[in-house]
Amino acid sequence: MALLDIIKAPDPRLKKISQPVEKVDSEIAQLMDDMLETMYLAPGVGLSAPQVGILKRVIVVDVSKDEDNRLPVRMANPVIVWASDEMFDYEEGCLSLPEHYAEVSRPEKVRIRYLDQQNEIREMETEGLLAVCLQHEMDHLDGILFVDHISKLKRDTILRKLSKLKKQEKKERRKSGSRQKVAASA
Ligand SMILES: [Zn+2]
Repeated sequence: MALLDIIKAPDPRLKKISQPVEKVDSEIAQLMDDMLETMYLAPGVGLSAPQVGILKRVIVVDVSKDEDNRLPVRMANPVIVWASDEMFDYEEGCLSLPEHYAEVSRPEKVRIRYLDQQNEIREMETEGLLAVCLQHEMDHLDGILFVDHISKLKRDTILRKLSKLKKQEKKERRKSGSRQKVAASA
């Protein structure tokens, strides 16, 4: 198991389209487990491979929020084969846009076809929070963030704040870096 670095927006890598996996082999199965471990620690309820810099159509989700009764979902090449007309509004967040939330409207129920960790083709019909989460993660595979579903004004405000935060963090890292250098040379 290994922890992966989660890419924070704004970042061009989050806008790329991910490639399908040819086969869920041991490497992809390991990636799924590493992504789950990273997601649990964050903590979050979903994570996609592009968020950790790997442009492959792989997602993991667990909405149980219960450490003792985890319900991990691992999917490769997920596609929506049916979606309900009824919509469901939910206040979404994202590990790549920390501390920001916005209400997004998506189909309430979806049926998804995917490859599981054993490379078997499966279908899952989901609704509510799990359906929201899976659709949110599948969006990442096409370079779409939850803020792309809200008004431009709100999106720009969130991205501007995140961009500012990134610059600040960079500055602080540089500062602490030079302080270390002083300490080492003293
Ligand atoms: Zn996300």
